Amino acid sequence: MTEAKNLKSDEIPVSTFQNVMKQFDQAAAKLNISGDLLEFIKYPRRATIVKLPVRMDDGSFQMFTGYRVQHSIVRGPGKGGLRFHPDVTLDEVQALASWMTWKCAVVNIPFGGAKGGIACDPSKLSVGELERLTRRYTADLIDLFGPEKDIPAPDVNTSEQTMAWFMDTFSMHERHTVTSVVTGKPVILGGSLGRREATGMGVVITVREALAHLGMCASNATAAVQGFGNVGSVTAQYLQKIGVKVTHIGDVFGALYNPDGIDVEALIKYVATSKNRSIVGFPGAQPFDIKNLLYVDVDILAPAALENQITDANADKIRAKIIAEGANGPVTPEADPILEKKNIFVIPDILCNAGGVSVSYFEWVQDRMGFFWSEEEVHARLERIMTRAFNDVLQVALENKVHLRMAAFMLAIQRVVDVMMLRGIYA
Ligand code: NAD
Repeated sequence: MTEAKNLKSDEIPVSTFQNVMKQFDQAAAKLNISGDLLEFIKYPRRATIVKLPVRMDDGSFQMFTGYRVQHSIVRGPGKGGLRFHPDVTLDEVQALASWMTWKCAVVNIPFGGAKGGIACDPSKLSVGELERLTRRYTADLIDLFGPEKDIPAPDVNTSEQTMAWFMDTFSMHERHTVTSVVTGKPVILGGSLGRREATGMGVVITVREALAHLGMCASNATAAVQGFGNVGSVTAQYLQKIGVKVTHIGDVFGALYNPDGIDVEALIKYVATSKNRSIVGFPGAQPFDIKNLLYVDVDILAPAALENQITDANADKIRAKIIAEGANGPVTPEADPILEKKNIFVIPDILCNAGGVSVSYFEWVQDRMGFFWSEEEVHARLERIMTRAFNDVLQVALENKVHLRMAAFMLAIQRVVDVMMLRGIYA
């Protein structure tokens, strides 16, 4: 394990993390906060890189690189997912960790922000190799984690099973079962009812609130969804439940179109048994050119795959009236003013997809109490937290005449600063 260190401003790499820095700077400029303090909350407090040797099924060893970034622990323990993807870099993990800080503050839950990742292609690894990789990562970085320190969750290409392996490895080292060290676990291992669908449900709650604010009706609306994993599939499912016609859906392998609305429940069943767990070949829709998915003429566009999808190079081509950011960072700071000019209502990631971390918080609370809630109770609490957050952000936006992303960052930064000032600086 490399030494944990505080990053200096001039060591911060560009790109996705730079995008978060720009979002932060634009919002911070509208707040009355001293520059020194902003530096403290802007940059990650700790970034760790680890080399992970893993025994492959054929007996050979392969090296992987893992990351864990704790952006902030001002408001509580670090909280954030663990991503398995070939493109994982320190830059990306720092960005994702920062967004977690602001997201937890927007929904006002007592967590800081963190994120982890391993650069790997999970589609090329067997279940056994994935298990050994997860366990090695957990064991190597074990000092960072704990229910009061830093609590991972699933993200792109990680699942309930990954969290089960993580929890078991951590517990073996602690010599007792510690369920609250991760969230997004299987329900029989201390997971929460309602966690699996929480992010997508939260996305749709914010869409519903946005439609009401804009005087639009769900049953007359159409939608396109990019990504059909945990977030995209549930977003599409719940959009359909509130009456929206989901006409376009895409994943990494291809896209689908049905002018009468894709039967999302049937598509979920199809994907569960299809090759590569892909939507491609679904008989209830026609194939659609994936390259045009973001530009279709729908009311709601929900990017729910990866970051940097809508940039200054293509923002002009977007035709949707509402963009619901199911993914983290799908719209770059350069694209925001273009979308604003086109009068597109963007529900920013740190608000839109915060349902996942909200129910992760509920899971952590339930694990620590050893007392579990009904699905109805989880859904009702999620509904309350998301509508309150949406309205808090909207109020800041209206009062300051700024778009929702700016408002969400302003609200979040102010909340972190308020806690920091009360705690004081131990210097
Ligand atoms: P996932 O691995 O379950 O699904 C990812 C989906 O995106 C897959 O359908 C994949 O085929 C698709 N995809 C990947 N690259 C694509 C491309 N270039 N074009 C079209 N589709 C593509 O991941 P997930 O958990 O659903 O996460 C998706 C996004 O939501 C990520 O940005 C993640 O950080 C964010 N997010 C996830 C959660 C959560 O609870 N899982 C919570 C908040 C935010």
